[in-house]
Amino acid sequence: MEQYILICAYVIAGLLGLCVGSFLNVVIYRLPRKMSLAFPGSHCTSCTYKLKWYDNIPVISWLMLGGKCRKCKQPISVRYTVVETANTAFWLLSVALFWKESPLYAVVCAVACSLLICVFYIDLEHMIIFNRFSIMIAVCGLICMFYDGYTKPADHIIGALAGGGVFALLYFGAIWILKREALGFGDVKLAAAAGLLLGWQKLIFAVLIGSVVGSIVLVILNRAKKQDKDTEYPFGPFIVGGIIIALLAGEPILKWYMGMILG
Ligand SMILES: [Zn+2]
Repeated sequence: MEQYILICAYVIAGLLGLCVGSFLNVVIYRLPRKMSLAFPGSHCTSCTYKLKWYDNIPVISWLMLGGKCRKCKQPISVRYTVVETANTAFWLLSVALFWKESPLYAVVCAVACSLLICVFYIDLEHMIIFNRFSIMIAVCGLICMFYDGYTKPADHIIGALAGGGVFALLYFGAIWILKREALGFGDVKLAAAAGLLLGWQKLIFAVLIGSVVGSIVLVILNRAKKQDKDTEYPFGPFIVGGIIIALLAGEPILKWYMGMILG
């Protein structure tokens, strides 16, 4: 019986993950442009051609049309397919990693990953992290902390306070010393929400990964473009990447690491 439920969970995560991924694209494009999420229906952003149902099948339609609009042949951003594929992969991973331990934890992790994908792309394109996403991630954290097999609820509360606190220090410290923002205040709120979601142990891991990868990418970008140092880059996407890795793979990696130091 349990086998059947698990197989059902995989099928539902795969199909629903694709559909939700498709909806995330709508959110990522329309929310920062203050457009309605419901109307008008999906259309080409170049020629406003209204997508038929068969133009709107996640991943498959994009591949069939060769990444171009059926009518005007303008390229359709690869982001649509990337978001759909990534969302589906994260949903399947959530089931694979957490379903046996706690189905509720698996579902909340999947939802959190979808929210984080929105934060990633919107921050990347518009340099803004909407409060509503941080709030929803914090709500996921409030549920997660009771079902996390690795950490106790108190670890998640500490994570929220420490994450928000450290990032707030960085934020106000940069304004005080450098006389400019080193990161946005949206990052501070996201760090607090991520702390609640991950617990302080996995949060440290997430911020470390995000900072290391972020620093490397920024150095490469600065070298390549030879731009003046004042060019602003969003820091959020790197942190978001770290949060997703820590959420899905943090426990085994931390256990392995602790095993290494403690022998
Ligand atoms: Zn078109």
